[in-house]
Amino acid sequence: MPELPEVETIVRGLRNHLVGFTINFVDLQRKDLRFPIPKTLNKSISGKKIINIHRRGKYIAISNEANQTIILHLGMSGRIKIRKINSKKDKHDHIIIKLNNNNEIVFNDPRRFGMIDLINNNNFANHKWISSLGPEPLESAFTQSYVADYLSSKKSSIKSVLLNQKFVAGLGNIYVCESLFLAGIAPTRVANTINDNNIKNLIFSIRKVLKKAIKLGGCSIRDYVQASGEMGYFQQKLNVYGKSGKKCYTCNCSSSIKKITQNGRSTFFCSKKQR
Ligand SMILES: [Zn+2]
Repeated sequence: MPELPEVETIVRGLRNHLVGFTINFVDLQRKDLRFPIPKTLNKSISGKKIINIHRRGKYIAISNEANQTIILHLGMSGRIKIRKINSKKDKHDHIIIKLNNNNEIVFNDPRRFGMIDLINNNNFANHKWISSLGPEPLESAFTQSYVADYLSSKKSSIKSVLLNQKFVAGLGNIYVCESLFLAGIAPTRVANTINDNNIKNLIFSIRKVLKKAIKLGGCSIRDYVQASGEMGYFQQKLNVYGKSGKKCYTCNCSSSIKKITQNGRSTFFCSKKQR
């Protein structure tokens, strides 16, 4: 599932291809993804110029000159492609946005957990998908005191708290595992036992892991129209995620990476480094 760095990479990559251009036509290949696709999407946004694109958590927000914002979530398997207009369609190309620059932006999603909505700009912060999101981890609202206050009442594992988008927006399984590794905190630790020093390390580690991944994603952005056209998936340099049984090189502990299941999802960690 794409997490904050992948979505940020897509947003940065799309910016040059979208902002300043006008949508000519929205070709819907089906009526629903996870939820119904707004029926009036094509009628509402065709003929209007895109003026901004930004990210909030794992959501992509594309705004036009008519004060409308398209909110898009990639779900489990959603991908964005840019290609020449009227290219041959691939399986699972559900939404094809044709632009006035001879390109089309395609939303492809085999598992259809993706979500799209169209709203007035003024309603963005209050939209049901957006209003409950916690602070952005790379922004100033994600402070030591905010984290300490939040964790102090939580008796679940630190991992499950970090995955909760109401606490902090944009983290998923991969970057939570990597951040906890870097911070030296066991994923099973009860959240309210995390002390101030742990919290400081955790905030630092989350930011370091995300920034490194975004930088890597940025390096992977080339000319998508020329290349495969698919955006936002890049080779990540991970220390623990997906590496169960492998030697833990990074912390020099001569141990191997462990894998456990928490709330039905895999967790990868080093039991020597992470306490
Ligand atoms: Zn280790």
